[in-house]
Parts: sequence; structure tokens; C-alpha cells
Amino acid sequence: MKCRQCQQSAVIKMERHNTSLCRGCFNLYVHDQVERAITEEKMFDRAESVLVAVSGGKDSLALWDVLIKLGYRTAGLHLNLGINDYSQISQEKVEAFAESRGTELIVHAYQEAYGLGVIEIAEETARPACSACGTMKRYHFNRIAMERGFPVVATGHNLDDEASRLLGNVLQWQEEYLEKQSPVLSDEGGTWARKVKPLFRLAEREAAAYAVLNRIDYIVDECPMSKGAKMLVYKDVLNRLEETSPGTKHRFYLGFLKRPRALPSGPKELHLHPCQSCGQPTPGEVCGFCRLMQRVAR
Ligand code: AMP
Ligand code: ZN
Repeated sequence: MKCRQCQQSAVIKMERHNTSLCRGCFNLYVHDQVERAITEEKMFDRAESVLVAVSGGKDSLALWDVLIKLGYRTAGLHLNLGINDYSQISQEKVEAFAESRGTELIVHAYQEAYGLGVIEIAEETARPACSACGTMKRYHFNRIAMERGFPVVATGHNLDDEASRLLGNVLQWQEEYLEKQSPVLSDEGGTWARKVKPLFRLAEREAAAYAVLNRIDYIVDECPMSKGAKMLVYKDVLNRLEETSPGTKHRFYLGFLKRPRALPSGPKELHLHPCQSCGQPTPGEVCGFCRLMQRVAR
């Protein structure tokens, strides 16, 4: 199998682009897709500092690597969730990566901060683990970015993540969630950090191939609490459709982004004020994270 660009031996075949590429040309392709996502969606520019949320998995470490190589100003943020060996190994992978690149890394450990890991917090508040974990992650991404002066937070969500989430939201007609399925969420005039997903044009297997080909050492295990089994089913269904009809995920998600955004009812206006407990902006009196922690304290 030869590279379609330069005739050297190819390392990856990409049905959806009807092409095969060698390592060098594949890296150029990945860099190009990420740069295109950043500029077309106006995610950030080279003057802004980007806080990259890195779990230690392939997607977020690949993202950080690409952003550094493209010359963006970045620092990493790792949340140690306090899930035994899994969290310890994740943190080690992130630290090794940051050290090898000589870049700043912020680590925030729940166990140290709250005396509990995310599983215990979920148990004490009787919330499903992934839902409590999601509330905590979103809160910390934003709070730490605002406190440290980062206008932007980037996560490693890829095309498969976004397409499967879209499929789930469409199947249930969760219109209020559809509004939030953009690869850029506004900072609402500086109230929040802007949330961006620069890998949304890349398939999961492309992100994985990039990590492997660039010898990025990542944690292979999935979180032991694992995501809603449903999301895995949606991913599997989309992979099967992709096999028979390459490009399905891309057409589904990017087609969705191209449609007129506003829903008939229009986006809800959020009236935000500082959380009574922590001061972070919230539409309620007390933010979701503080409500969670109040239930732990009881
Ligand atoms: P997930 O929800 O596990 O699929 O992760 C989606 C994205 O959230 C990852 O690509 C990371 O950018 C970010 N993320 C997940 N877990 C962590 C963590 N423990 N620390 C920092 N960022 C994370
Ligand atoms: Zn709060």
C-alpha cells in the first residue's frame, strides 16, 4: 500500500477520504484538520493561552501534542479523580508527557481537595457516577481556567464522540442539548472560559493512530466506571454504518453543524449571578458543584 501523496509506504488507509497515507503525510493531514477546526470555528488564536484538559488518554494527549507543534500557547490541566490505580497511572502519563515537552501542567486532585474521590462523591450524593463526574469536571475546567487567566479550555472530544452524542440526542429529541453540541461554546462575554473541541473533524481511530505513530505514551484502559453503556452502543452503530458507507459520521455531525442553528423557540436566555457558596456564575442560587458538595457534607 503506497501513500497517495508521496508514494512512500502507507501506514494508514482512510476509507472516508478514499486515500492511504505514510506517517509524514498523515501527520500533516492531522495538523491540517486541527488547524482548520480552530480557524473555521474561530476557537482561539496564537495570542491566547489555551488550557488543554488532559485525561492521560489518547485523544487529549494527541490534541496537546498537535497544539504544541502548531505553535499555540498551551498549558495542561489534569484532574486526578481519585479512582485508585487508574487515576494514578493517568496522572503519571500526563506528567511524563508535560515533562518531555517542557510545558506547564496544573494537577488538581479531588482526594487532596475534598478528602474523597469521584466514586465516593457519587455514592454519598446518590448520583450516577458519570453524572457526578461530569458536573465536577465541567466545574473545575471552568473555575481553574478563570482563576489562572486562561480564556479558553480545549478538550479532546473527537468526531466519534460528537456524532454518537448527537445520535443519542436526536433519538430522544433532546433539543435543549442539541443547542450545546457545537464545537465552540461561547464565553458569554467573559463570564465563562470558552470551551472548544479542536479534534471534532478527526475520527477516533485517526486520533489513536496519531498517538501511536508519534509514540505518545497514553493510558489504554477506559475509566473503570465506564461511560453510559448507551454511548458505546451508539458508537458501535455508527461504526457499522461507517463500514458500509464511509463518511457517515462526518456527514452526520458536520451536516448538523451547517444547518441553521436557532431552534424555533430560540436559545434560552440565561440570567447568571455568582454562586452564593463559591462565586462561580450560575443560573441558580447555588451552582451544581456546590449543591453536590453540600449533599456530601450532610
Ligand atoms: P471523556 O468524557 O472521558 O470522554 O473525556 C472527554 C475529554 O474531557 C477528554 O478528551 C479530556 O480533554 C477531558 N478529560 C476527561 N477526563 C479528564 C481528566 N481527568 N482531567 C482532565 N481532562 C479530562
Ligand atoms: Zn458554587
